Amino acid sequence: MKTENKFFEAIESVAFNKEHKTLLQQKLNTCVNHTTVAKSFYSDLELARTRASFLKSKSLDNLDKYLIEFESNFIKKGGKVIWAQDNDEAIKELTKLIEKKSAKVVAKNRALISEELDLVNQLKVNSINCVESDVGNYIQNLAGELSYHPVFPTLNQSQKNIAEILKSDLISDNSIHARDIAASICIKIKQQLKEAQISLLGVNFLVADAGAAVIIENEANSAQLASLTKTQVFLAGIEDIIPSLNELDLFIHLYGTYSIGSAAYPYTHIVSGQKQNDETFGPEDVYVILIDNGRSDVLAQTNQRSALSCIRCGACHNVCPVYRTIGGHAYQSVYNGPIGSVLTPLMKGRDEYKFLSYATVSSQELLAACPVKIDCAKLLQHNRTESIKLAPPGKTEKLSVFFWKTAMLKRSNMDKGGAKLKNFMMRQFFKKSWGERREMPQVAPKSFNQLWRERKGIK
Ligand code: SF4
Repeated sequence: MKTENKFFEAIESVAFNKEHKTLLQQKLNTCVNHTTVAKSFYSDLELARTRASFLKSKSLDNLDKYLIEFESNFIKKGGKVIWAQDNDEAIKELTKLIEKKSAKVVAKNRALISEELDLVNQLKVNSINCVESDVGNYIQNLAGELSYHPVFPTLNQSQKNIAEILKSDLISDNSIHARDIAASICIKIKQQLKEAQISLLGVNFLVADAGAAVIIENEANSAQLASLTKTQVFLAGIEDIIPSLNELDLFIHLYGTYSIGSAAYPYTHIVSGQKQNDETFGPEDVYVILIDNGRSDVLAQTNQRSALSCIRCGACHNVCPVYRTIGGHAYQSVYNGPIGSVLTPLMKGRDEYKFLSYATVSSQELLAACPVKIDCAKLLQHNRTESIKLAPPGKTEKLSVFFWKTAMLKRSNMDKGGAKLKNFMMRQFFKKSWGERREMPQVAPKSFNQLWRERKGIK
């Protein structure tokens, strides 16, 4: 089935599901309320957003320089950097590394990049067991689903659903109390993590001048994982770089504010190379895999480049009416919501994913919601223009637009034919695109022009 058809099929099953919609709206409203409160703690939020936007643009415009600076600083402290052109190369390098260490069990943290790599399944093909350290991802894995939201993977699951998913795995007494569920999962995850020999950690940021990988988290899963494994592998997209450690606090606070509505996450880990002789903690062997996988193509398009500034806070998802209706899985991409609709066609090909360029609204609300001022609406407009250039409209569409334009530009043309004929034509032309579940608007029996003339007595 074509990806576009899968998209429409998925929409059909979720958009009219009242239970799903209510759950999604409730959870997203809570996110919006929390972020609104957190934003009020800034004395000058606008300045912080402008600075963050500028720094991300600067990083992307000088990406080659900052990546090399990062690599050289990371290597200085005993770290190793692997460059991967695409997913296949990243998995190949990772597998080689795991085999070299004779590891059979590895563990990962919550990160979209590992879903982009399809890490768990790809490693399974090579007989490597990849266990999960994050509760949300653990549940979604059991359900056979991808993360629903960049920050809240289980956004689509009710407490009852989660209990159902965990029934065969953990819960024997049908308990659906949240505390029991969380406790059971944590025990199980802890047991599994003990077997892991290597940790695979998706990062939030890479810092060029410090040669450091940064992870920000709520529950110290990555920290726990890192403390259990001597070898640590950080997975990063090339766009995750920021120039300097001095700027990290700006991004940490913006990320906390816009993702969970808190001034900062409880845990921030900064790892710059392997454990030094005078240090107590740290990895004995540490790697960063820098993954391109289509990002250079986005970078090459200067007017679309800003999409790579995304720090994956999910704030645009929370306010997007389309995401709020169809949720995260319909998009057919790990990167969903408005920013996913921008990035996916650029990274994975316009031919297959151009339909996503229409999967959000052109609203200034998306720009206002974004901590790094990405103008998703403008970027989507551009995507649409490019998609049309790739597949120009056929003769029938051109002819229809010609007639429509001719009719619209002249009042006397618009007034021709009665309401019945116009309603008939509307039904014929727009029945399919209007959908079966919406009522087609009706042309009134008398036009405004006719009513005006009658009232004024004009013949
Ligand atoms: S586009 Fe902006 S608001 Fe949306 S996830 Fe990325 S950083 Fe957050």
